[in-house]
Amino acid sequence: MYHDVHELNFSKIKTYLECPLLYKYKYMDGRKEGLVPASSLGVSIHRALEEYHRNSNDPSELLAYYDDCWLGAGYKSAGEQMEYYLKGQKMLERYAEREYERKTSVDSTEREFIFQEGKWTLRGKIDRIDKHPDGSWEVIDYKTGDDIDFDAQITDSLQLGIYAVGAQRAWNLKKGKASFYFTAFDKVVSAPFESFDAKAIVDKFIEVGEKIEAELFEPDLTHCQQCAFRNRCAQSACPDPEPDGPDFSGNNPA
Ligand code: SF4
Repeated sequence: MYHDVHELNFSKIKTYLECPLLYKYKYMDGRKEGLVPASSLGVSIHRALEEYHRNSNDPSELLAYYDDCWLGAGYKSAGEQMEYYLKGQKMLERYAEREYERKTSVDSTEREFIFQEGKWTLRGKIDRIDKHPDGSWEVIDYKTGDDIDFDAQITDSLQLGIYAVGAQRAWNLKKGKASFYFTAFDKVVSAPFESFDAKAIVDKFIEVGEKIEAELFEPDLTHCQQCAFRNRCAQSACPDPEPDGPDFSGNNPA
């Protein structure tokens, strides 16, 4: 598997911070995490919103895009699939209601940024970029999960931070904000670009990049309980005794 050690993105950094060994499994050995219901629903919703914003301005069509984009992988039964389908439907019904009142124009979706910092290439893909009537910009990341810590400071988010930095450095967007759109809660939380500490964010990426470059892949056992590899990892602190763990089929289109 090709692995460019000097190319960094948020998913890589997040994985390394969760467990360096997990990073090695995913990005150097090419092992697949597989889909579980929450991640499969996330793929369906992201796909539906991308297609909707690319092709339609009519919120009444959003659920039809959801049906077209629905991904049935990662569920253990038809009943579980239906349960998650209905969850997603509820999220998108509320999303469509907001669409009728939206004052911004959607400039682009799934847009990639890339910029250099010395020998490091930092890149990312942003779900949606809006332009406001006053000329300012908003970069938006959809969060479809329901395990959100709303007490966390949004300006501490490495993900939103690198998006704010990327929008400014790669696209030269001067004025704007970065937002998480929590679809399960119908809630948007934003912070202006300048409220993120750009230097600290880039430094953090590079600090992790240097550890990857040095091939420091010590396991972090505090993450095992949530890890998709807990049944297949020799270092796992908590192999799951249940036979029906996450779907490791490798059928992950994301
Ligand atoms: S099971 Fe534990 S040690 Fe193994 S990759 Fe996952 S988090 Fe790391």
